[in-house]
Amino acid sequence: MTASLSVDERRVLDNLKAVEERLCAACAAAGRHREDVTLMAVTKTVAPELVNVVLDAGVTCIGENRVQEYLSKRDALHLDGVKRHLIGHLQTNKVKRIVGEVDMIQSVDSVHLAKAISDAAKLTERGVMDVLVEVNIGGEESKSGVTPDALPELLDEIRIFDGIRVRGLMTIPPIFHTESEKRAIFSKMHKLFIDIQGKKVDNGSMELLSMGMSSDFAEAVLEGSTLIRVGSAIFGERQYK
Ligand SMILES: *Cc1c(COP(=O)(O)O)cnc(C)c1O
Repeated sequence: MTASLSVDERRVLDNLKAVEERLCAACAAAGRHREDVTLMAVTKTVAPELVNVVLDAGVTCIGENRVQEYLSKRDALHLDGVKRHLIGHLQTNKVKRIVGEVDMIQSVDSVHLAKAISDAAKLTERGVMDVLVEVNIGGEESKSGVTPDALPELLDEIRIFDGIRVRGLMTIPPIFHTESEKRAIFSKMHKLFIDIQGKKVDNGSMELLSMGMSSDFAEAVLEGSTLIRVGSAIFGERQYK
C-alpha cells in the first residue's frame, strides 16, 4: 500500500500525523478529550487527489473558502461520511449555489446574509442550514465578522429566520507571535462564547466554537476551541495559481 504513495501524498500523511499528535497533546494539557475537538482539513487550493489522502486516512470534516472552487472539486472527493463546511466570506448572490451542497456555513456576519441563507435553505430538502456567526475578535478593519459589541444585536435580529440554525461562533484572530498573546485573544473569544451561551437563542444551540489554524491551534484548544481549521500544516504552503 504505502509503496504506491507519491512523495506529496506521503508528506501529507506525515503532516497529518504530526498535527494529530500535537492536537492530542494540547487536549491532554487542557484536560479535554480528543473527541471534543473536531479537526477540519482546510482544502483551498489543494488538488482533490491530495484531499482524498486525508479523507482516506480518516479526516471527517473539510473546509473550503470559495463556492466555485468547492463545486468544481466536489465530484472528485471521497465524501462519504465527511462534513463539508464553507469557511470563506460569502456573497449573498452565491448563497443559492452553496446551500444544499454543504453541511455548515461558518461565515455569517450580517442580517442580510443570514436571511439569504435561511430563504435558500427552506427550499432545500433539509429545509434548514447550520451556521456559525463569524466574530472579528481583534476588531481589525480589514477582517470580516461582527465585532464583539455588535454580536448580541446580530444574534437577536437573526433569531427569527427559521431556515438557519445558529450552532456557534467562528473567529480568525489577528496574527500573534507569542503564545501568551495567542492565548489571550482565544480566551477573550471563549469568554464571549460562554457569555452568549447563557442567553437563549431560539433557532439554534450555541455549542461550537471554531477557532485555531495551523499556527495557533494548540493555543486555541487550550482556550476551549471545539473545531480547529488546519490547512498549511497538513497540505504544505498554498500555491495560488
Ligand atoms: C485558509 C484558512 C484556514 C487555514 O489556514 P492555515 O493557516 O493554512 O491552517 C482556516 N480558516 C480560514 C477561514 C481560512 O481561510
